[in-house]
Amino acid sequence: MFSYRHSFHAGNHGDVLKHICQMMLINKLKEKDKGFEYFDTHSGAGVYDLQSQEALKTLEFKQGIERLAIDKNSHVLVNQYHELVTAYQKFNQYPGSPEIAKSLLREQDKLTLMEWHPQEVKNLKQNLNGKNISIHHRDGFEGLIALTPPALKRGLVLIDPPYELESEYEQVLQTVCKVHKRWATGIFAIWYPLISERKTDENSFSTTNSKLGKSQSLITSLSQQPFKNLLNIELCVTSPSDFGGMYGSGMVIINAPWQLDVNMEKSLQQITPLLAQDSGASFKVEWLIEG
Ligand code: SAM
Repeated sequence: MFSYRHSFHAGNHGDVLKHICQMMLINKLKEKDKGFEYFDTHSGAGVYDLQSQEALKTLEFKQGIERLAIDKNSHVLVNQYHELVTAYQKFNQYPGSPEIAKSLLREQDKLTLMEWHPQEVKNLKQNLNGKNISIHHRDGFEGLIALTPPALKRGLVLIDPPYELESEYEQVLQTVCKVHKRWATGIFAIWYPLISERKTDENSFSTTNSKLGKSQSLITSLSQQPFKNLLNIELCVTSPSDFGGMYGSGMVIINAPWQLDVNMEKSLQQITPLLAQDSGASFKVEWLIEG
């Protein structure tokens, strides 16, 4: 427990997909003047140092945010994300999901951040403060159930667990089902990893990775619930290798707003070739439940 630190992974291809999607969802909520509440169940530190020992050990950001480039044909959202992260890159930093949310929120909106790792809670409190921001040192699954439905009624939940424990996949499903029963109009955005099998010899694969196929089972279970507008978005930066590891990731969104599919498709058309590590790179945007 608590061995996961996002500082090893900040700015990687998973973050690029997740944060572009997060920005698009917040932009949508801002189309109305009425305030909304943003919940981050697994907040992390808020801001990451790309020159830290952790970041330099994996150099994952080099395969993510450092590959992003824009030109005059870039999608407006890719431009917006690029502009935001470039401001932090100048200081060798990367903004995590709470910082991105904070940069977009208005007077009338509210930010509720949950984090369980004691050191990350300290970092989060140091990195983020301000009006309308509350930081909770608690389990994000339990916290989300306790703190919803929000008084503002309109809102977005980002669920971004480390998936270190196999049980987290089931916890995501159970939590979302429970909260959705009492808050059917909330937007829920769930990030998940795509992990490949590890080949042990010429003809067999390792069966030791118990997380294999868990993301797919989660998606299948979510698509069997009484949800509306369930959109699935995946970005694979390489073909699944024989050596195990994360070859891509996805975002599944409950109550996905109008045009999210079109905008994500256009953004991914642009960023997939930039993030591609081999010819197996691909993306998909698909409705699991439409309407
Ligand atoms: N959402 C962040 C972002 O995009 O910048 C990254 C979050 S990171 C993938 C997952 C975080 O969840 C870690 O900081 C970890 O300490 C925290 N965590 C793990 N289990 C948790 C739990 N049950 N409740 C809240 N936070 C938890």
